[in-house]
Amino acid sequence: MYAIIVHGGAGKLKDRSKEVKVSNGVRRAVLRGYDLLKNGSSSLDAVEQAVRVLEDDPSFNAGTGSVLTFDGKVEMDAAIMYGPTLKVGAIAGVDCIRNPIVLARKVMEETDHVLLEGEGARKFAKLMGFEDYNPVTEKRRKEWEEYKEKLLNGEYPTWPKIRELIREHPELLHGTVGAVAIDEKDSISAATSTGGVFLKLPGRVGDTPIPGAGTYATPYGGASSTGIGEGMMRTLLTKTVVDFIRMGLDAQTAAEAGINFINNTVKLSAGVIAIDNRGNIGFAYNTPYMIRAYIKEGMEEPVVAL
Ligand code: ASP
Repeated sequence: MYAIIVHGGAGKLKDRSKEVKVSNGVRRAVLRGYDLLKNGSSSLDAVEQAVRVLEDDPSFNAGTGSVLTFDGKVEMDAAIMYGPTLKVGAIAGVDCIRNPIVLARKVMEETDHVLLEGEGARKFAKLMGFEDYNPVTEKRRKEWEEYKEKLLNGEYPTWPKIRELIREHPELLHGTVGAVAIDEKDSISAATSTGGVFLKLPGRVGDTPIPGAGTYATPYGGASSTGIGEGMMRTLLTKTVVDFIRMGLDAQTAAEAGINFINNTVKLSAGVIAIDNRGNIGFAYNTPYMIRAYIKEGMEEPVVAL
């Protein structure tokens, strides 16, 4: 039974015109991954390529269109994990490449490490032949100016109160992307990519590249999360969900139990997608929306929902 689910972030959409764009985006991404699975490719290829489609789509907060830090720069995080071997590759704080998820996979396959950050990650990208690329879009630059202005005018709480800022404006959150897939050999992989949280302090690393926080996969299941990363790091949300699966829950019940854990403890915005090794799909979130799409072997069309 092969299957794939992708998300385009948890949060809230500002306007309805954006709904069409993001729905089309997750649809394209899930179909890209599904085509690969159908043709016998591994779940690792499927999640990498699905996330890549979303990174190239400026509607999402990953790759092109990543949100900006407090000082107006891009610092992208990404991770990819292969369940059968628990191998994982991740990058953090990278600003000048087009597809962070592809670099994360290179870390997994071409180094002895799990996570490269900042300058070292940039040098490694060069070594791997990645071309320089500027992921900042005009739209994100304008949003940054608008929100920074409001922040400095005291209209929004300052950074230590990011939680209130995002609670008041959940539209600042949506856009991180992720995918979880199971292939015909029952191997599960997970991948996540993000520009992080809007107006984050320079140097802040979120949950996305931390195995077990934003991204996790084992022989039992896989999960990818979105929301305020600090919450996922404190609860190890994706590891928690995968552990629930290992203990016998199906992916849907495990995802719901994971979000319950967040709600009962750190109480921060969060969303998670998951797949278990029986091919069940699950998702749960505590935000107004989590953009998502999934398709399983035998289905004609993906289910796309906000
Ligand atoms: N989880 C991401 C982070 O904290 C942000 C998001 O999902 O929107 O970096």
